[in-house]
Amino acid sequence: MAGKDKNNWDVAVIGGGPAGMMAAGRAAELGAKVILLEKNENLGKKLLITGGGRCNVTNGEQDVRQLLSKFKDNDKFLFSPFSQWAVSQTLEFFNSRGMETKVEPEQRVFPKSNSAQSVWDVLVEYMRQGKVEIHSNSPINDILTHGEHIQAARLLSGELITANSFVIATGGTSRPETGSTGDGFKWLKNIGHSVKEPRASLVPISIRNPWVKDLSGLSMNEIKLTAFQSNVKQFSVIGKILFTHRGVSGPTILNMSHEIGELLKYGDVDISLDLFPQIDSGQLDRELQEVLQDNINKRLKNTMKNLVPATLASTLIELSEIDPETPCHSIKRESRKILVKILKDLRMSVKGLLGLDKAVITSGGVELTEVDFKSMRSRLYPNLYLVGDILNIDRPSGGYSLQLCWTTGQVAGTHAAESFAN
Ligand SMILES: Cc1cc2nc3c(=O)[nH]c(=O)nc-3n(C[C@H](O)[C@H](O)[C@H](O)COP(=O)(O)OP(=O)(O)OC[C@H]3O[C@@H](n4cnc5c(N)ncnc54)[C@H](O)[C@@H]3O)c2cc1C
Repeated sequence: MAGKDKNNWDVAVIGGGPAGMMAAGRAAELGAKVILLEKNENLGKKLLITGGGRCNVTNGEQDVRQLLSKFKDNDKFLFSPFSQWAVSQTLEFFNSRGMETKVEPEQRVFPKSNSAQSVWDVLVEYMRQGKVEIHSNSPINDILTHGEHIQAARLLSGELITANSFVIATGGTSRPETGSTGDGFKWLKNIGHSVKEPRASLVPISIRNPWVKDLSGLSMNEIKLTAFQSNVKQFSVIGKILFTHRGVSGPTILNMSHEIGELLKYGDVDISLDLFPQIDSGQLDRELQEVLQDNINKRLKNTMKNLVPATLASTLIELSEIDPETPCHSIKRESRKILVKILKDLRMSVKGLLGLDKAVITSGGVELTEVDFKSMRSRLYPNLYLVGDILNIDRPSGGYSLQLCWTTGQVAGTHAAESFAN
């Protein structure tokens, strides 16, 4: 073990996001003398905004193979760390520390408190128990090597932090205001690692149609979204949509953003919303007739909200070009047909994908062939460990990103702590 020299640590973790906190806590739990260096004033700034502040802490899929199928071609790399620490260990970790969890649709797991703060509290307490020395307001400027060895991390102030092992957990480049500004990519490139150019992934979609802005804040479940290019259907998904002032977001949109981005390379893309995917147009027309019948002496503008949320109702009437003052008894078959068509095929024209500033994750990062996934150790520098968003691993929305942080953090923490004893 390293001596008690103030500046000679067993393990130095750079970056106090979820992956760094987990790695630091784990190495300390095993008896290592650990320092955590975070450039912000507070740890886990991004963690606290995850899941809209509720933190989708993991995905409830317990079968490792099923879970890893979501990571596409990267499953072959991930099998080894996930056989050491997977969803059941994550749940046990948080539950046994007093954070109860609940499972929501698509197996998304959240703290019962509905607050990301609960997750943060568990991690900080984990580190406190292991006596991790936490240095916030401590931006690392670069890392120094000697041959195949990481020698030190240099703070912006010029001070050197030396340690037997280093864990880089500086995240990707999405939402840079949280501290994830890609610093680790720069250092790792400088010392010879291959880093795939980070690009926005899981990103909201910006929409041209001005009416979308009027719906800002509206969220709807069980909507069928179909992407079209040159009026040819490309793919469909059913899920949740959230309208924003610039377009659409929410988990389903984030998950389709990659495919939309690919289609945009070849031309314009439209997204059609089917607001009633469970029934066909005939059935919907019958339901509309019933609503009109029940409100026969009311005006259309006061009636459509019986079928769809009120904000959407006025937008739909505007799009239909039917006079909103028309009494329901005067709505003819032709007008109903127009309304049904809009309810089943509400078209939006895609302007583009929003940028890194709005992305949930970055696709890109350190090439996986340069990491030994049994330990999360760099294949270039045996005393360097890489965890969390710094790795080039694409994945969908649904708790998979944080599970990746818990797994890689635990595995790196375990092996970084072991290596100082050897
Ligand atoms: C809006 C939003 C919602 C999300 N919701 C979810 C969700 O519900 N579920 C889910 O699974 N995933 C979610 N994610 C993704 C998830 O937050 C990330 O995958 C995760 O935070 C990555 O953790 P990390 O520790 O690798 O990096 P980060 O969380 O990016 O942390 C990196 C840390 O390193 C620090 N740092 C950077 N450079 C330096 C430096 N030079 N010196 C010292 N410190 C430095 C940063 O300040 C930061 O604290 C969400 C992301 C966003 C943006």
